[in-house]
Amino acid sequence: MTTTSDAGITPDSGDAAARCDPPTPRNPSTPDASTAGRERDPECLFCRIVAGEIPSTRVGEDDQVVAIRDISPRAPTHVLLLPRRHIRSAAELTGGDGALLGRLFGMAAELARSEGIADGGYRVVTNVGTWGGQTVDHLHFHLMGGRAFSWPPG
Ligand code: AMP
Ligand code: ZN
Repeated sequence: MTTTSDAGITPDSGDAAARCDPPTPRNPSTPDASTAGRERDPECLFCRIVAGEIPSTRVGEDDQVVAIRDISPRAPTHVLLLPRRHIRSAAELTGGDGALLGRLFGMAAELARSEGIADGGYRVVTNVGTWGGQTVDHLHFHLMGGRAFSWPPG
């Protein structure tokens, strides 16, 4: 994976082009034919979790969405909401995905209540591509709560 340091981009770099040019995206906004529209990618970690081939702690599910606990929680409550369908990132979403997004956010709100973080407030976030911090190329929303979060995020 290309990291900031791999790309030679440091905070004190004097090279304006290096600071401004994003790395080559792993998640181009134009889907390629290899995974676009696929129901499932057999190589994908989250597709395999959705299929039950890799264990996870499920906290919610319906016919379109599965919610699991993050294996490396960054907050007292850290849940991942995954569409069952293999969508590589939010960059692939279109107007036709409105119903799926309603399910994802609806389940996030329900889980926030059942996890006891709704009253205090919480964060729902999705990372896109290398600079966005995405490490698993299957769309997911992080539902995080139980502590205060800073803004802007690091
Ligand atoms: P992101 O970096 O936004 O792509 O988020 C990927 C998230 O998946 C990270 O928060 C990881 O901790 C989490 N993760 C990776 N592997 C697993 C797994 N096997 N079960 C649950 N969560 C995972
Ligand atoms: Zn997948």
